Amino acid sequence: MLITAFPAGPLAANCYVAALDAGAECVVVDPGQDAAEGLAELLDKHGLTPAAVLLTHGHFDHVWSAAEVGATYGVPVCIHPDDRALLTDPAKGLDPGLAAQLTALFGDAEMTEPDDIVELGDGQRLDFAGLPITVHHAPGHTPGSVAYALPAAQDRPEVLFTGDLLFAGSIGRTDFPGGDHSAILRSLDRVCLGRADDTAVLPGHGPQTTIGRERATNPFLHEITGR
Ligand SMILES: [Zn+2]
Ligand SMILES: [Zn+2]
Repeated sequence: MLITAFPAGPLAANCYVAALDAGAECVVVDPGQDAAEGLAELLDKHGLTPAAVLLTHGHFDHVWSAAEVGATYGVPVCIHPDDRALLTDPAKGLDPGLAAQLTALFGDAEMTEPDDIVELGDGQRLDFAGLPITVHHAPGHTPGSVAYALPAAQDRPEVLFTGDLLFAGSIGRTDFPGGDHSAILRSLDRVCLGRADDTAVLPGHGPQTTIGRERATNPFLHEITGR
């Protein structure tokens, strides 16, 4: 198993690449702002060929390069339908202040939808790059947020790509349009808290953690577990 990552853009959204091995096909999770170049370097270094782009949600810092990466490698881009509109209208997912900053940064840059979109459903099994990934709909940060779970194998624990659902020591903010605090708590309970302590959490920002560490130390999860 090969999982590697780099932070992309001013908001340092983690772009992950996962493959069974070097020299194989891979999935690309959340190619955000200016991610194409860093991604090309990673792919080159490990001899990887993308089979699909997986988006955890529709915020621009996670999806910015999705159409470009999809077109460059001729692969589908997967997103939950409840966040699909954000691909072409990123300001829709932001408060007016941030939307204005976005316009100031990038002008009125046309966002085009990827050519090939796969709309995700809760519980859906994906089979790209030989990786048996399960989609878990996890609304709250955005209506169409999902987590991607890769089951445990002999050489590794379960892996959960959480996007902006769960971070080391924190959870996703819910004050953007479409955000819903009680929904994110329900999603964390349903998608995260039932998993084994050694489950590797690969979040949309910041360092890797585990479900066990977050269960023990994350104050937002204590709000759910009542500790
Ligand atoms: Zn986000
Ligand atoms: Zn983010």
